[in-house]
Amino acid sequence: MAFKVAIVGRPNVGKSTLFNRLVGRRIAIVDDTPGVTRDRRVHPGRLQDLRFDVVDTAGFEVAAADTLEGRMRAQTEAAISEADLIVFMMDGRAGLMPDDRAFADVVRRSGKPVVLAVNKTDINSAEAGVLEAWNLGLGEPVGLSAEHGRGMVELRDAIHAAM
Ligand code: GDP
Ligand code: MG
Repeated sequence: MAFKVAIVGRPNVGKSTLFNRLVGRRIAIVDDTPGVTRDRRVHPGRLQDLRFDVVDTAGFEVAAADTLEGRMRAQTEAAISEADLIVFMMDGRAGLMPDDRAFADVVRRSGKPVVLAVNKTDINSAEAGVLEAWNLGLGEPVGLSAEHGRGMVELRDAIHAAM
């Protein structure tokens, strides 16, 4: 069974953009409407020399289970439980939001190895978000731009160290 890396985080942080980059194809829909990824996608991916299955998820939503949001959250929790490693993604431009903290707690409780990724660092204001990310208590944040491919060596090294 291949090593499984799940990308999780609240809607719109750029999970599907990173997923597509890692699998080398545009499989997941990227959209600025939060919640566009409604189901889990698993696909073989690579990051330089590392090969693993990548799991894209819907963003966490805090809502009841009989709503679309509730089902999305349930899928994300299922993705966490089946993953060997979590890439927890935050949006550096938006900065640290209350939902990031709530979801980081869920990831931490899973006890799985976590890599903290702060996306959208192609935008200057994202640097502040990288500093705020330390407050999540998930270790050293890796700044990256999923859209432009920035920070991929640092992400590779962080995943390799946590594997
Ligand atoms: P998801 O909901 O977490 O899967 O996020 P998406 O991958 O669908 O991306 C949400 C929005 O953020 C889209 O408009 C993307 O184009 C944008 N986005 C994703 N990655 C980056 C990035 O590295 N930099 C910038 N500036 N925008 C990004
Ligand atoms: Mg998505």
